[in-house]
Amino acid sequence: MTSWTIANVRPWGGPPVDLTIDGTRIAGVLPAGTAPPTGEVVDGRGLLALPGFVNAHAHVDKSWWGRPWVSYGGVATTQGRIEHERAERDRYGIPGVEGTVAVLREFLRHGTTATRTHVDVDLGVGLRGIEAVREAAQRLGGAIDVEIVAFPQDGVVRRPGVLDLLDQAARAGATSIGGIDPASIDRDPVAQLDGLFAIAERRGVGLDIHLHDGGELGAFQYELIIDRTLRTGLQGKVTVSHGFALGELAPERQRALLDDLGAAGISWATVAPVRTAPLPWRGMAERGIGLGLGTDGIRDLWSPFGDGDMLRIALGFARLHGLRADDELTAAVELATTKAAPFVHRDRHDLVAGVRADVVLIDAENVPDALVRVPARALVVAGGRVVARDGEPLLDA
Ligand SMILES: [Zn+2]
Repeated sequence: MTSWTIANVRPWGGPPVDLTIDGTRIAGVLPAGTAPPTGEVVDGRGLLALPGFVNAHAHVDKSWWGRPWVSYGGVATTQGRIEHERAERDRYGIPGVEGTVAVLREFLRHGTTATRTHVDVDLGVGLRGIEAVREAAQRLGGAIDVEIVAFPQDGVVRRPGVLDLLDQAARAGATSIGGIDPASIDRDPVAQLDGLFAIAERRGVGLDIHLHDGGELGAFQYELIIDRTLRTGLQGKVTVSHGFALGELAPERQRALLDDLGAAGISWATVAPVRTAPLPWRGMAERGIGLGLGTDGIRDLWSPFGDGDMLRIALGFARLHGLRADDELTAAVELATTKAAPFVHRDRHDLVAGVRADVVLIDAENVPDALVRVPARALVVAGGRVVARDGEPLLDA
């Protein structure tokens, strides 16, 4: 087992320490200058150290990253994007191993060392996308932990056969299965949710449901999800992704729903898009409702935007929610790192002894300074290996 040391770094901007690494794990966190001299020593130069970023909502199978520019086309509604993607994806080799590797390398470049990714499962590609994502993760030697949600992007009950594909995906090792707008895409929320929960219960997998619907239509579906989570005993295993409606509700309605979501152990994932209502993130934290940040798809047939940098997503979250004080800005970064541990099934994710050695060094004065400037990552260590330096990924695949 390789032992080495990252000397003189400042975890979360605190006093300088030496991080000793044994194999894939952090072995010790000692006051700077006191680590025993075993193995290679990398000089951390007093840089800010953070745990690796966790991307709690990605679509690594969809991107045309690494290819010549693809101009935006199709209709700008959810259904319009679905149709455009299904019509165009083949010509860009989507889903494919090469494109997925390109995206995962971008994640590592920016210090993301674990991700939960939705992967399209539909009547056209079947489970081929999941196989491509698995192969891509393997090509990178497991540097980035990739957790898969089998995602029925094109609908569930409106596409007979998709529930069976989701069941197969769950049986074949997907950690969770997804859903999408049970009301506005399938136009049958009860049927979609009953179908998804039946699989989750039978196969012991989690659920992570895309829900774009706003206002009361969104709230109504949260109620359906809460009810089914409690009845199936899936507390702690259900996530709502996007869930914009939660930020749009009147205060009293919102408070009551937050209480129920907390009681049902349902978590939330957001990509903090501009022009959406801020989420009640403090009320969520008070009730223990998990909140993860994600990039969503980057540079794909849905949108040309996104570079895969979770620090930039945390900055977007901070701006959308009007955060300014140091503790608030730090909280935004925690959402993209330590607090997201449950989204990738980790008990603990931080710069402490015993956990996977995922370390990001940044030339910044403190955490708020790093958040507002989003500097290049000086060093990225993933599972005990150096995978990026001075903003450049080092892994070949
Ligand atoms: Zn998504």
